[in-house]
Amino acid sequence: MALQSWVASAAGDTDFPIQNLPYGVFDDGSGARLGVAIGDMILDVVRVDHGLDTALFAHTEWNAVMEAGPKVWASLRARLTALLSDETHRSMVEPCLVSRQGVQLLMPFRVTEYTDFYASKHHAFNVGTMFRGADKALPPNWLSIPIGYNGRASSVVVSGTPVTRPWGQIKGAGDDLPSFGRSGRFDLELELGAIVGQPSSGMISVQKADDMIFGYVLLNDWSARDIQAWEYQPLGPFQAKATATTISPWIVTKEALEPFRTATPTRVRPLLPYLREPGPMLYDIELEVALAPESKSETVISRTNYKEMYYSAAQQLCHHTTSGCSMRVGDLLGSGTISGPGRNSYGSLLELSWGGKAPLTLDTGERRSFLEDGDTLVLRGAAKGEGFRIGFGECAGRILSAVELPAWANEEGN
Ligand code: CA
Repeated sequence: MALQSWVASAAGDTDFPIQNLPYGVFDDGSGARLGVAIGDMILDVVRVDHGLDTALFAHTEWNAVMEAGPKVWASLRARLTALLSDETHRSMVEPCLVSRQGVQLLMPFRVTEYTDFYASKHHAFNVGTMFRGADKALPPNWLSIPIGYNGRASSVVVSGTPVTRPWGQIKGAGDDLPSFGRSGRFDLELELGAIVGQPSSGMISVQKADDMIFGYVLLNDWSARDIQAWEYQPLGPFQAKATATTISPWIVTKEALEPFRTATPTRVRPLLPYLREPGPMLYDIELEVALAPESKSETVISRTNYKEMYYSAAQQLCHHTTSGCSMRVGDLLGSGTISGPGRNSYGSLLELSWGGKAPLTLDTGERRSFLEDGDTLVLRGAAKGEGFRIGFGECAGRILSAVELPAWANEEGN
């Protein structure tokens, strides 16, 4: 029988059973502090007797714990598991539990730098087919190299933060001048974010890279397709991806995901030796995307799985260091859009509506090619165990209409 917690709500239908114990930052009105989700409750880690250096927890982010290294990560998790499963600790621990109801969740860690990848073959093939045709869908480098770009740490926000529709430069018809307007093709990208918990200097192996990862969050790489289509050549995405990147508020630790490890798919072409994995480095995590128009109920528009990825976070992190690029505690790596093989398993509206040619019909009867103002987009994910699930909670954002621009932005004569 699976391990049980004495916290009643940690049994049954919850993202946060005793097997999960994800790390977050919460504010219940008496200041931001570190917490661990258990059922409907949050364990106030600062107040409980965790047996570790209290200085690690005297912050409003988990970076100091990450920096302390894998031995501390393991001790903390073992201690929390004992405190929350063993009845003998109950009278001491129970006063340190706070209800999750009404509590504000904040950014769980300070994002040092942010890199986003492009690692689902289905996604790359779909997007490539739309732009270049099926014959040339995958760029020649794609099967050999984890493609990525350096994003902006400043763009990363926690779930629940509203997302304002961006303005940007959009291609004109034919040879016409471009225009400066509101993005009309604002989209989501369903991704998993890997959090680097240890620094590196010099090139590191795939195994070492895996050891450096602290945990994972859901990640939505909001993308303005019309801005992207005009700006991306020849250096890749820039402003199209800089509006916001939303992450879920709970860091699911790598240790909690261990039982769900699975191998990357069969290679189409052999990888160079440095990128080969010594063992399974993806995870079986079921994922879904839900869209709710303003004041209406949601429709699940996609279901997929993280195991569909062609490259793991460990391979991406290894490749990231090949140049000698040093990685730092708190670096965030976006997996790339996670699309499965089927029409209902795509991780972006660009693919789900096939570039707007085949709009989706929601359960409310409304149609969507891209996101409308007032839409709320929610990502969910969980690894499914025997009688429990390791859930990520929600990664949600509501679209606000674009801001009013200053008059000079579109005036002639400047
Ligand atoms: Ca992306």
